[in-house]
Amino acid sequence: MQVDFNLLKKYNVPVPRYTSYPTVPFWNESVNVSNWIQLFQQQFMKHNSAEGISLYLHLPFCESLCTYCGCNKKITTNHNVESLYLETILKEWEMYVAIMGEKPVIRELHLGGGTPTFFSPENLQKLLNGLFKNATIHPQHEFGVEGHPNNTTREHLQTLYDLGFRRVSYGVQDHDAKVQHIINRIQPFEKVKLAVENARAIGYDSVNFDLIYGLPMQTGESIEKTILQSISLKPDRVAFYSYAHVPWTSRGQRLFDENDLPTADDKMKLYQIGKSLFTSNGYTDIGMDHFSLASDSLYAAWNEGWLHRNFMGYTTQKTNMILGLGVSSISDSGIGFAQNHKALHDYYESVNNNEFPVTKGYFLNEEDQAFRQYILNISCQAKTTFHEEHLDLLQQYSFPELRKLEEDGLIEFDETGLTVTNLGRNFIRNICKAFDLHLLRAQVPQQGAQPIFSKAI
Ligand code: SF4
Repeated sequence: MQVDFNLLKKYNVPVPRYTSYPTVPFWNESVNVSNWIQLFQQQFMKHNSAEGISLYLHLPFCESLCTYCGCNKKITTNHNVESLYLETILKEWEMYVAIMGEKPVIRELHLGGGTPTFFSPENLQKLLNGLFKNATIHPQHEFGVEGHPNNTTREHLQTLYDLGFRRVSYGVQDHDAKVQHIINRIQPFEKVKLAVENARAIGYDSVNFDLIYGLPMQTGESIEKTILQSISLKPDRVAFYSYAHVPWTSRGQRLFDENDLPTADDKMKLYQIGKSLFTSNGYTDIGMDHFSLASDSLYAAWNEGWLHRNFMGYTTQKTNMILGLGVSSISDSGIGFAQNHKALHDYYESVNNNEFPVTKGYFLNEEDQAFRQYILNISCQAKTTFHEEHLDLLQQYSFPELRKLEEDGLIEFDETGLTVTNLGRNFIRNICKAFDLHLLRAQVPQQGAQPIFSKAI
């Protein structure tokens, strides 16, 4: 479906991606280590033996700076940093294991970054063996890694495969030489192809590509070529992200000339080109920037109604708890979030002092939990029912917003629930916003004069 350009323009406003609710700007420092640990222990005992837990490990080092990057990373070519970081993250894990009360069952594991493949295969093996020695691996475990096509070797992939990894996600971003030059990410197509072929030859079930639209120097022609080249490698999933230009928080973005960025209208055209190429080449639009082949488990999760959304975007997560380890990592206990220190030296210092490196978070009250569920239902299943006890709140905050969305044909709703229309699937973030009571009650917190959230497209 080609979306009306004026409608895209109307809804292209700053809006959260809803990888958490409440969103991070509404978290605070009132979540301290001791109340986080208490909540963690309580939730762990509730969920561990029933379904297992998920682990997210943040491996922050990268050899060079991609100028568009908004991740928490540390740029260095000194690989001596690997050992200290691995020792520290394992120590943090041991601190958690010591308070768990029973052996953890690891069901899901994700290595993210930074660049996890910055670490040598030997060091990754050391890290994972260190994690596993204190844990039971769930029989239906799902392990995935983010790989940089430039430095993901066959040895990396084989080592991780032998440890149970079956998913790899490659940061491809763009194949065009001019774009790669300006974003300082020189990554020849042949390297991407080899990284994909190696993963397939070893036996990985799922290869994901991250692509970005709205980068400097991108044109309709260049993005069409990038997407067709990507499709020729048949990734099972594609995350087609909007470039978020936030130079006030991501300093690397000040390194290119803003005049080289596509205009807002051109960026929306890039999105339309991408969406139409994916959907006409066998990919289903799962929602909020994600496309999947019907053979991938993300599609099955979407189709069967058990898709989930968390800090990593859409997932097939089957657990209620994620423990995040490493600098800046976020944990989700199901009813409360905690984030680790963002600065490496603060993270090292806390763990070396035997203190959990938590710096902020948020504990959800009953209202938050209910509205989080509405947002999850809409983002993952494109529909939700409403509970009678929330009708007053819904009438006060959500329904006025929903009426406007209904007038534009994006949803159908009444007092019992809401269904997103086919057209509305292109505006899921905007629809979720109607249930964001924190945002509706308050002005978005400002950093200087700049909005914290990026635009929808
Ligand atoms: S985009 Fe990835 S590889 Fe590039 S600097 Fe950011 S985290 Fe590192």
